[in-house]
Amino acid sequence: TPAVDWAAVRRDFPVLEREVHGKPLVYFDSANTGQKPSAVIEATDDFYRRHNANVSRAVHALGTEATEAYEGARGKLAKFLNVRADELVLCSGTTFAINLVAYSWALPRLKPGDVIVLTRMEHHANIVPWQLVAGRTGATIRVAELDARGDLDLDGLYRLLTPEVKLLALTHVSNVLGTVNPVREICREARRRGIATLVDGSQAAPHRPLDIAAIGCDFYAITGHKMSGPTGTGALWARREHLEAMPPFLGGGEMIKEVRFEGTVFNDAPHKFEAGTPNIAGFVGLGAAIDYLSALGMANIEAREQALLAHATEALSGVEGLRIFGAPAEKAAVISFLVEGAHAHDLATLLDLEGMAIRSGHHCAHPLMQHFGVAATCRASLAFYNTHDEVDAFVAAIEKVRKLLA
Ligand code: PMP
Repeated sequence: TPAVDWAAVRRDFPVLEREVHGKPLVYFDSANTGQKPSAVIEATDDFYRRHNANVSRAVHALGTEATEAYEGARGKLAKFLNVRADELVLCSGTTFAINLVAYSWALPRLKPGDVIVLTRMEHHANIVPWQLVAGRTGATIRVAELDARGDLDLDGLYRLLTPEVKLLALTHVSNVLGTVNPVREICREARRRGIATLVDGSQAAPHRPLDIAAIGCDFYAITGHKMSGPTGTGALWARREHLEAMPPFLGGGEMIKEVRFEGTVFNDAPHKFEAGTPNIAGFVGLGAAIDYLSALGMANIEAREQALLAHATEALSGVEGLRIFGAPAEKAAVISFLVEGAHAHDLATLLDLEGMAIRSGHHCAHPLMQHFGVAATCRASLAFYNTHDEVDAFVAAIEKVRKLLA
């Protein structure tokens, strides 16, 4: 692969040219949502200007174009993830995707005595739906814990996988620690025991080459807005046999073959799970995002982000009183930290005045915060469009505000 011109790539992202409080924007909050390249903004704009119509309902030219664009995005995403297009349910994001599995797969299946296994590092989106299922079925939840470095304790996890366990739901990459879980090995162990697996790929799909078929899970959830795509886009991949067995979650138009008051014949999967008018323009944008990421190459993106992470980790380790949470064996470009004597929110607020966007808080991961015994951390999350100069400016800004807060 030819070397990527990262300075040119950065110029593809209009928002990064902005100033904030009179300072150049340093956007280190990509784990929260990613910025969008012009190609994505223009594809969405072009859809509304030239093609806008609803999908699957009209025979007219615009209707056909809209349907082709929407289904085209499904095809691009399927290829990107290495799965079959007819196993990909398009939806609003990971939260919807996990809830779809909770309501359509787990709720009709689980009984009192059944167990769902989660991990300590899950996002609330991969905890709360299971609590709702547990509350309604009488199933219970078990939690796999972390070791001191912020890696999953795999032996401990496997010990939890007893015959009562029906589902293991875990994140591929932690949105707080950056921990990359060995999901292939874990799913293999679960499968050997007859346990279904759901992988939350929110923080993996934007940052590394992905091959869902090779992971060997039953369900994989992604969210488009972290992958350079528009908000309100995402997908659930599930094995065809699951999709066929699962009843629909929402009823309405688009998801039926025939409706009579005596009863309705549902459409085939994945359309059975896509009731109502979808986010057509959003998926057109996501299709453009997939083209964009594919052209850059996910291996290049991963290498770039690893270089930025190494630089940031090294530079931050020189800041007095700064503690980085977690040092997992394999780590994505997410750095959670605290500075002695400074509240996370105060630090983030002062950094904002320097033009720097980081997140402070619990990162939708209360149980992980409880594990570390803190209420909040600061989190800097990097993406390929960030620069080494930004990392240096960030560390200098932390040094500056640390003195203000001390
Ligand atoms: N899981 C993880 C690991 C996440 O980081 C996020 C987003 N912060 C979600 C789930 C939820 O994604 P969304 O809000 O796009 O549905």
